[in-house]
Amino acid sequence: MAWDFETDPEFQEKLDWVDEFVREEVEPLDYAFREPGAPFDRRNPVYKKITDPLKEEVRKRGLWACHLGPELGGQGFGQVNLALMNEILGRSNWAPNVFGTAAPDTGNAEILAHYGTEAQKKRYLQPLLDGEMVSCFSMTEPHAGADPKEFICSGHKEGNEWVINGDKYFSSHAEFADFIIAMVVTDPDVPVYQGTSMILIPRETPGIEIIRRAGLPGEPLGEGHHPHLRYNNVRVPEENLLGGPGQGFAVAQTRLGGGRIHHAMRTIATTRRALQMMCERALSRHTQGEILAKKQMVQEKIAQTFIEIEQFRLLVLYAAWWCDKGDRDKARTYIAAVKVQMAEVLHDVVRRALHLHGALGCSNEMPLSGMWAMSPVMAIADGPTEVHIVTVAKQVLKQYQPYEGLWPNEFLPDKVAAAKAKFAEFIEHNVSNN
Ligand SMILES: Cc1cc2nc3c(=O)[nH]c(=O)nc-3n(C[C@H](O)[C@H](O)[C@H](O)COP(=O)(O)OP(=O)(O)OC[C@H]3O[C@@H](n4cnc5c(N)ncnc54)[C@H](O)[C@@H]3O)c2cc1C
Repeated sequence: MAWDFETDPEFQEKLDWVDEFVREEVEPLDYAFREPGAPFDRRNPVYKKITDPLKEEVRKRGLWACHLGPELGGQGFGQVNLALMNEILGRSNWAPNVFGTAAPDTGNAEILAHYGTEAQKKRYLQPLLDGEMVSCFSMTEPHAGADPKEFICSGHKEGNEWVINGDKYFSSHAEFADFIIAMVVTDPDVPVYQGTSMILIPRETPGIEIIRRAGLPGEPLGEGHHPHLRYNNVRVPEENLLGGPGQGFAVAQTRLGGGRIHHAMRTIATTRRALQMMCERALSRHTQGEILAKKQMVQEKIAQTFIEIEQFRLLVLYAAWWCDKGDRDKARTYIAAVKVQMAEVLHDVVRRALHLHGALGCSNEMPLSGMWAMSPVMAIADGPTEVHIVTVAKQVLKQYQPYEGLWPNEFLPDKVAAAKAKFAEFIEHNVSNN
């Protein structure tokens, strides 16, 4: 049946298991280990000891790293099902680690699966999928993020090696990654979309310098997980080019679609938590002789929040559905719309929840101020909102035609006259009788 909002019962069983497992086994890690970078530090021996048995459990269920398509060795659940699964995983900062779906590893795994040589897959992809390696994606530059035309970090061929020089910024997790996938300009004489390439750089390669470690709020200054890197004559073998020369952007596209949908569904989990806290507070707190939930201004906030979350969830699932249908154009439009809306919904929902909690909401005893701080991050990471708005607008505009003359075609006097003539008899006999 088309337009069905129910989950396939077989997959629902998996979701039920994930739901309970995350609640019982994974969410407690969020309370015990609250340091923001902890879930990303997958090789830390203490965290590994705790998470390895949990990962094993996930593997046994066939739910480990299931974001890859079936042609790449994944289970082929499809984007709608993966979206539903990520909606549960989003409740915990640790869940992506325990389920093998942590960024940027998921996207990097997709690149390697599509474009890596057999040797690279064995050396990097398999350990990455097994959770034994950590990776980094290095594209943004200190002076240029949203506009790749400004990129200057370069790679040129010398004999059978690529030599890389230049700076990259916010290369997340580079400080403990095992390898980096970097986008570099390999032909400055052609437009950037044909002149950049993707190169695999083992982290131990000489010449990779960490200039400074930027971080997000909550991370100690100078010890963040989003370093500014400098590549000083970094040399890698020619076969480390992923995809053809000049195909950097085509390769980058491989990593973005599904990842954005999963991220949005994890954000829905965050907003649901905020709504839950908001309702519990409204039902518990007394002001002027009644609970907050009785006050209409509070009711309005709760209703508005519910509506926004549900609208957004449908948009995300619709985007996932277009992906499963294989309509790339539609998927692109809806994924860009999701990317824009994600930061807005998170911002508005969490602000209301925080506000309703008063001082407690602002405190570090509640997670709300931390959640709120993520909304500007979501509007920037993976491309600023404006860039995705432009994508949506361009895709929408493609569906329409300009006027032939100065006026909208369907309102031209002869068109209106022709339409009236078509219904002349009806108008004469019916309308004039009224
Ligand atoms: C937490 C986090 C993790 C990240 N991880 C990675 C990573 O692993 N690897 C990586 O390569 N990068 C990473 N980034 C960087 C991210 O991709 C860039 O920050 C993003 O692409 C924007 O680039 P920018 O910061 O240079 O901002 P800019 O490009 O300078 O944009 C700043 C602002 O300018 C305005 N603007 C820009 N373009 C337009 C436009 N066309 N129209 C109108 N206004 C515009 C917008 O207001 C925009 O927000 C990460 C960022 C964050 C916050």
